Order: sequence, then C-alpha cells, then structure tokens
Amino acid sequence: TLRDIFEQTVAKFPSKEGLVDRRLGKRWTYQEWDEDVNKLANAFKQSGVQKGDRVSTVLFNTAELATTLFACMKIGAVFNPVNFRLTGKEVAFILRDASPKLVLFENATASAVKMAAQSFRDMEFWSIDECHEPFAKSYEEQVSGMSSKRPECKLHEDDLYAIMYTSGTTGMPKGVMHSHRSMIDQSTIMSAVMRITKNERGLSVAPMFHCAELHSAFLPRILMGGSNIIMHHFDPKELIKTIKEEKISFFFAAPTMWYMMLREDLSQADFSSLRAGLYGGAPMAPVLVKEVNQMLNIDLYQAYGMTEMGPAITVLYEDEQLIKSGSSGKPLIQHDVRIVKTREDGPSDPEDICGAGELGEIIVRGPSTMLGYYKQPEATTAVFYKGWYHSGDIGYVDSEGYLWVSDRVKDMIISGGENIYSREVEDVLFEHPKVLDAAVVGEPDEMWGERVVAFIVSKDELLTAEELDRFCTEQGRLARYKRPRRYEFVDKLPRNASGKLQKYLLREKNKING
Ligand code: AMP
Ligand code: MG
Repeated sequence: TLRDIFEQTVAKFPSKEGLVDRRLGKRWTYQEWDEDVNKLANAFKQSGVQKGDRVSTVLFNTAELATTLFACMKIGAVFNPVNFRLTGKEVAFILRDASPKLVLFENATASAVKMAAQSFRDMEFWSIDECHEPFAKSYEEQVSGMSSKRPECKLHEDDLYAIMYTSGTTGMPKGVMHSHRSMIDQSTIMSAVMRITKNERGLSVAPMFHCAELHSAFLPRILMGGSNIIMHHFDPKELIKTIKEEKISFFFAAPTMWYMMLREDLSQADFSSLRAGLYGGAPMAPVLVKEVNQMLNIDLYQAYGMTEMGPAITVLYEDEQLIKSGSSGKPLIQHDVRIVKTREDGPSDPEDICGAGELGEIIVRGPSTMLGYYKQPEATTAVFYKGWYHSGDIGYVDSEGYLWVSDRVKDMIISGGENIYSREVEDVLFEHPKVLDAAVVGEPDEMWGERVVAFIVSKDELLTAEELDRFCTEQGRLARYKRPRRYEFVDKLPRNASGKLQKYLLREKNKING
C-alpha cells in the first residue's frame, strides 16, 4: 500500500529532509514527519474516524494537507482533497456527496467552508489556523498530546485510498475513486520516466488537491525519498525566489504558470539547481514550449491524462519537445491509447479504430484507472465501454505514434458542416506577439450553425480584431473557414486552479451578450 511505501522511505532515510512548508517556515526530517503523521492519525481515530471513513481537506498547499494524506492511510481512512478555490455552494455539494467525518480547512478557505458547515451538523471542522468560529475546532489542540505511536490497521492494496473530485470543466463534479495499488503504479511509472531520485528537491506549487501534482510529482518523490518543498499557492515572484532559496531541482506546473514565471523580471533569478520540469493538464502552445526550452535549458516533460486515469497516460520526453512540439507524446509503459470514431448514438466502439492522422475520440487503458465514480455506478458504466475509458477528448495519432490532443468532444465547433478544433485556432493566436492568453469557442450562427469566437487577453491596448484577422489568414496560418468571426478582448480568461479553461463560462457569457 501507499502507507508501506511511505514507511519504507521513512525507514531508509530517517534523517533526510522530508517536508518543508514555506508558509510556516518549518522543516521536518522523514522521521519527524512520520511522528506527526502518527499523531494526526491517532487524533483522527480519537474523533471517531474509522477505516473507510472520508476525511476532507479544503486546504491550499500546506504541510497539513501532506500530513493528512498519510495520516488517513495509517488508519485506512479515505483522503478527499477538495479544490480550495470553490465557493461555499460548491464545497457543500462535494461534502454532501463525500459525507466525510472530518473536514480540515484554513483561514483562506474559511468563508466557503463556513457556508457549507451550516448544513452539516454531524461533521467536525478543524482549522489549521487560529480561528474563532464556533463551528471549528483547532487542529493544533486536537493533535497536541497525541501519541506518535503507529496505529494498527489492516490495509490491502486494492483498498480505496482517495476520492478526488474532477475539476468540472463541464458539469457537476464527480468523485473519482482511486486505490492504493493504482497510485503506486502511477507514481512508480512517473518516477522512472522523469528519473526522480532521492536527491530530488521537488517543489509543490501546482495545487496538491489535483491528482497531477499529487500523483505525478509529489508521490514519486515520496517513493524515492526526495525532499518535498511546499508553496502555499502560485505566485510567480515567490516561485522564482523559492527555486533559488530552496535549490529546487524539479517542479510540475500548469502551462500558464510556466508562462507567467518567464514573464517576470528574471535578473535576480537563479535556476541553476533546476534539473527538470513537468507541464500538463492543459495544452501548451508550441511557441511557449520553445520559450521554456530556450530560457531554462532543463529536461522538460509533458504529461497528458485525466483524474480518472491517475492522471498521466502519455508523456512527451525532453528530447521530443522541439521536434514534436504541440504533441502529447506516447503512452506510458503498461498504458494503451486508441483513437476511435465518434458516434452520434452512443459511446464510440473501441474496435472502430481511426487511421494515422485521423481525428477521433481518445480512449485509454492502464493500471492507474479509477475504481469508478463515487456513488455513481451509471456514470461509471457510461465511461467504461468495452473496458476502455472514454476520455471525451478528441485527437489523433500521427504516423510515428505520437498523440495530438485537439479538443474536448463538447468543445469542437461545427461551422458549415466543417469541424473546427479550437486548439488549432488558439495555437495560431498564441503565436501573435501581443497575445497573452486566448480561448476559442463556438457561438450559434443562423447560417453556419456555429461560428468561431475568440476571447483574447492582450498585452497591448492597440491590438485590434483586424490585425488578428490578418495574422490568422496571412502566410496560410489558418484556413479561412477556421478563423474567428468575432473577437472579444477581456482582462482575464476563466481558468480553474489547474490551468484549464472553463469554456462553458465563456459560452454562458456569450449568451448573455447575445
Ligand atoms: P482533469 O480531469 O482535471 O485531470 O482534466 C483532464 C482533461 O484535461 C483531459 O481530458 C484533457 O482535456 C485535458 N488535458 C490534460 N492534460 C493535457 C495535455 N497535456 N494537453 C492537452 N490537454 C490536456
Ligand atoms: Mg475531468
């Protein structure tokens, strides 16, 4: 189990720096960390948490989140990390669904949690910060005086380890259930791919409630005995400073984070400790990949996947970044990827395979597949047709076996009967030097069914729709039918905490504007 993995690392590297919390300015060796994990586990037990019960966190990246993760395992409780950016209503939705015994929160999430707390009288709420709300207990008080003796608990590798709610770029979040076994496989494969060793000094800057950071970056370091430095939340200046001060050798970040970091003043930066980096979770425009590569000279990896699959399924290696820029690479060991024809009347058939270069739905198989959606057997059956997870992503595999992710099935724009993949249009817009961020969606059009609309965040107030339109069509960058018919200039695009565009919000906005 993951508990055994953690305890093995503690036994192998007791005096090594295991955990650093930049917010608290606190450091733990693996041994000290394990003692705190046991104390917290005993505190959970004392509050009535039993094997199989859920413990939720509504926390930013904190030592307490990392300690809760392992404390849950020590007593067989199920870890449920909740997105710290959600509103009270959204948190309440998840808590109702997950029905945890205990919820941990902090001042930065207190108002959302407080709203939710009113509807759940049978849950305990522990605050990791000083908090005077009557509904909250103090984490510190609960833990103080607890024994650091390891609690006894029988665990099996197939036991449920966590429930993670998907980021919900589409509808209501669903709880993805993962077992210990599946996450051991995910983190073992990822540590091999990125050559993680005990010398790694890894930084958690992307949200740890999301499985990309937790399983593809954080757990691989636990497995190998690397050091884990935790940054409360993303701030580009703070990131640059932390890399220098903590001699960070590796971190995972969403494409937008890499982009924002490199837009900062880098005169005081020192990236010499940085060995490698990982990006993923959303597409990175080829021009940005080139920029990261040129400016940092590190081994850069890309992962493509989804919460339901652990998440990573394919990886684009460091030496492929420039020659296959824009592609998501090839399947990880023990994983299969297929492109199959989409159908109007039901799930696409895994045997109806597309040829090289032909667009279809991406379906996948692998050892880190979820056990299912929590309390939603029908939704689970719907995505597992004939043993393959149906991702809802559209893409193709080229003649050399590389996967190219184009769009979500639902984001595809059909204009005059032609399919338009928003990513292709976005990549071209990104090439324009004055464009900071771009998103493309479809809007209803009487004549064409749908027409392409682009939302643009610009560096320059003088950038006009005419200039962008010229840019798209000149030098054959885009076929005329694909070019945006309308541009909207905005200050910011709606992206969730993992950097994914929430296009449904743009579509809603569009409806309101008429
Ligand atoms: P989540 O369930 O939050 O992990 O989101 C998974 C979705 O993010 C996938 O289905 C893709 O649409 C998108 N995604 C993840 N990784 C990548 C990537 N490397 N390139 C493009 N899209 C990605
Ligand atoms: Mg999802």
